[in-house]
Amino acid sequence: MTRILHRQINANLRIASGGKGVELFDRDGRSYIDASGGAAVSCLGHGHPDVIAALHAQADKLAYAHTSFFTTEVAEALADRLIADAPAGLDYVYFVSGGSEAVEAALKMARQYFVEIGQPQRSKIIARRQSYHGNTLGALATGGNEWRRAQFRPLLAETHHIDPCYAYRYREAGESETEYGARAAQALEDKILALGPDTVMAFVAEPVVGATAGAVPAVPGYFRRIREICDRYGVLLLLDEVMCGMGRTGTLHACEQDGIAPDLLTVAKGLGGGYQPIGATFLSGKIYEAFAQGSGLFQHGHTYICHPMACAAALAVQEVIARDRLLDNVKAMGTHLSRRLGERFGNHPHVGDIRGRGLFMGVEVVEDRGTQAPFDPALKLHARIKREAMNRGLAVYPAGGTLDGARGDHVLLAPPFIIDTATVDTVVERLGEAVDAAIAQAA
Ligand code: PMP
Repeated sequence: MTRILHRQINANLRIASGGKGVELFDRDGRSYIDASGGAAVSCLGHGHPDVIAALHAQADKLAYAHTSFFTTEVAEALADRLIADAPAGLDYVYFVSGGSEAVEAALKMARQYFVEIGQPQRSKIIARRQSYHGNTLGALATGGNEWRRAQFRPLLAETHHIDPCYAYRYREAGESETEYGARAAQALEDKILALGPDTVMAFVAEPVVGATAGAVPAVPGYFRRIREICDRYGVLLLLDEVMCGMGRTGTLHACEQDGIAPDLLTVAKGLGGGYQPIGATFLSGKIYEAFAQGSGLFQHGHTYICHPMACAAALAVQEVIARDRLLDNVKAMGTHLSRRLGERFGNHPHVGDIRGRGLFMGVEVVEDRGTQAPFDPALKLHARIKREAMNRGLAVYPAGGTLDGARGDHVLLAPPFIIDTATVDTVVERLGEAVDAAIAQAA
């Protein structure tokens, strides 16, 4: 019996007692391949000796100093390292404790920027349906996941949502990828014009949609068009790479593969790899200068921003990824995973789509492959898949379909960057069995 309020009441959670590499162990001696790194967090796997050593060293030196009195060597070193590899123009960074905080900070930066430059009428946020940007009220208002938002709606600021770029469900028959991408991006221009261009503050999107849709990348060209539209109307582009960033897709930042740089960029999960809670918001020099030449401060802050232990963990994680050339492994293992998923599920009667980039892959399960109709959400197929996978020693991250059929149940795979081919093969084998068993129960 747990005394902790977990997300699911009475979830009968197993008690995790250890982890090594790609494996997690529970108190009853069972082991699990951590094939989603929790929620795309554990990019180095568990128990990495170099990260643990860095944490010990930082704890010996300094665990905490408040940012209104001091900066720290470790926070400055992390900032230097991240800015050196950041997308063009993102010259400054702000450290927080997780993804939602990173998004909240980015939204407030966008708002304060327009106040500082004398455009206080700009306050509207446009985002996309089927997106997730966090659970704090500003981030929740921005995200387009109706299930998460519904009961909190009276507390949520007004935001405006357009359709996502989700080729499997939204591309029309006979439409090329390029045509579809242009049409999907046009929805942003239409919305900006409908709202009044000088009232819009920011467009927010995940380059590869994670928790809500299961690793859905935009089609090539979509984000270039989005960037052009934002520039045309002076709207800030905020890319949320909390889940898909920090190497997960094979490049350090997912937006590199779309050939654009945003004005604001959020990262979290893979930044510290789960060794400490940490997130970050990158901002452009233009936004920084507006603060510097205006009020001289960013009117925000939390007690734990720039936490030295969190920065030490992130610095060590990022150094190991670079030293061991792990992004090469992300690319190689991503290709292998994609091929194996194709072999196992490519002709599966209940798998409609296999998509993703690098070690960030999604499998969408549907009742009818021909019509793309999802299973009845009441069956909670995703929960059954999760349970069947856990029973087979596999931890994966599934989510449910929607009542309006806007998507089916999906399984998200985001294994540690250190995974090898044999383990990828085992992941796909166990997942195949879990999906088949869950569907057999639901039939
Ligand atoms: N943005 C995205 C894209 C996410 O995937 C998440 C977490 N799933 C968040 C924001 C919120 O991050 P956190 O849970 O660390 O607050």
